[in-house]
Amino acid sequence: MKYRILAADDLAEEGIAFLRAQDDVALDVRTGLSETALAEAVRDYDGLIVRSGAKVSAGVLHAADRLKVVARAGVGVDNIDVDQATAAGVLVLNTAEASTLTTAEHTFALMLALARHVGPAYLSMRDGQWQRDSFNGVQLAGKTLGVVGFGRIGRAIARRALAFDMNVVAYDPFVNEATALDGAVAMFNDVDAMLPQADVLTFHVPLNDRTHRLLDARRLGLCRDGVLVLNVSRGGVLDEAALVDALDHGKVQGAALDVFEHEPLAPEAALRRHSRVLLTPHLGASTVEAQQAVSRDAAEALLDYLRGRGIRGAVNISGVRLEFNPIEACCVDLAGRMARLIDPMLTEGIRRVRIGITSAELRSVGHTLERIILIGLLQPHLDASLNVVNARLVAEGRGIAVSTEVVDGSDVGRPTIDLEIDAGGRRDNRPHRIVGSVYHDMRPRVLEINGYRMDMVPSGCMVLIQNDDRPGMVGVVGAEFGQAGINIADMTISRRADTALMVLKLDTTPTIEVQELLGRNPGIRRVAVVQFPDEFAGSAP
Ligand code: NAD
Repeated sequence: MKYRILAADDLAEEGIAFLRAQDDVALDVRTGLSETALAEAVRDYDGLIVRSGAKVSAGVLHAADRLKVVARAGVGVDNIDVDQATAAGVLVLNTAEASTLTTAEHTFALMLALARHVGPAYLSMRDGQWQRDSFNGVQLAGKTLGVVGFGRIGRAIARRALAFDMNVVAYDPFVNEATALDGAVAMFNDVDAMLPQADVLTFHVPLNDRTHRLLDARRLGLCRDGVLVLNVSRGGVLDEAALVDALDHGKVQGAALDVFEHEPLAPEAALRRHSRVLLTPHLGASTVEAQQAVSRDAAEALLDYLRGRGIRGAVNISGVRLEFNPIEACCVDLAGRMARLIDPMLTEGIRRVRIGITSAELRSVGHTLERIILIGLLQPHLDASLNVVNARLVAEGRGIAVSTEVVDGSDVGRPTIDLEIDAGGRRDNRPHRIVGSVYHDMRPRVLEINGYRMDMVPSGCMVLIQNDDRPGMVGVVGAEFGQAGINIADMTISRRADTALMVLKLDTTPTIEVQELLGRNPGIRRVAVVQFPDEFAGSAP
């Protein structure tokens, strides 16, 4: 089988060549598609690669039954409906790292050009003039740079500004430190308090509800007179009309913009005609090096995900790891088997899922275990396809409370998963509970189901039979399977109060008729068959 991948924007040759060289990939390049045409085209693909041109809207994602991943060759994902992708179980990833330095350099180029009027001076030279008095600039050294958004690019700018002997202050509500870069940068958690400090302001935030028009007329009023403003992040972060107004009134001395609320910027836009505005057409990441890197990174990350080799650069799942050491792999495998094993016991809808994991070994895969368990519990009951991207969202959308806690497992001495589910079906109305662990032999074990203790390796065809705890029941079960010509390979019996749980491993799967026959015997309360793979993840072949 080949993975079908669509490149819907122009990508640097590196990524295209990489994908074409893979035996298991069928690549199509179709650029310039309208939203409707993309929605039509995308139905046939497992993966989609875009830059900022193709609009991966809710409508496009709605049509994409086969689609598993959208890779953005670049950073901003505002051309992708990430919420809809998450709901549809489609992974969205980007290649943020690849364009950091390039974008920081472009920001710096604009800052220097703005401070020294390089743009207008160049235009006047082109006009045949020699105007030495009109372009008196400002020196950057000694000035204060205010960085809004202290992520990858914001930090890269700050380092460069420090090398230029600037003072640097920064605002980022998600950096909870008083200072950064070894004390060289003063951090603010209130943007209004930072704005009056800055001679030059630069924006490096994602565009979202909180950052939309972050710099508006009110905040421009808080800035120093004659401030320089730069935006190389996303257009909507600045109120463009308010900026033009502040330029007209001299509040802002100059502005350099690479990004605009509506791109391409309209030919008649006021910003284009303002003499103290320097404009570039979204060139932040436009270097040979960055385009090669984002194209290759996007192609590799997309294919790694399709091949099940891990997730990199994910935008719509946090904390989910799909690359495991052997013990983690075994526990993830166990988690899925535990969910499927307890599922037949649940007689009502699930109201709450609580997952307890022992700390040391499993802490870093807690998010992943949680989603694997939710998939095991919910997928058998849903038409919609569940995966690590959407499992939690689907559960929460159905009113299921999900929690994962790290518990002290030092007394057990090995990684343990303790799964509790409120879903009715128990006489005492207590939650269902299944406990599993991984032993040194790297085989998963189930140690308890609803108070019945056992030591069982969940593999192959397993049958759970809950019955009255009275003489003759083992004989009844043996006789039914014997008559059906089914061999019992292994069996454990656990007793609690007046009932018992038999867990059998069979050589062949019993038909529905055989299961029903068995269930009709007096004293048999419940029969459930669960089929597992024989191989275990993480264990040696
Ligand atoms: P990043 O995720 O590393 O950093 C973004 C930072 O913004 C984070 O530290 C985050 O905590 C902070 N932030 C989030 N909400 C905030 C808020 N309300 N106020 C202040 N800070 C907030 O991203 P990055 O790689 O540094 O990219 C930054 C921006 O640059 C993105 O919008 C990206 O799309 C844009 N970008 C533009 C170009 C271009 O061609 N012009 C190229 C690359 C990146």
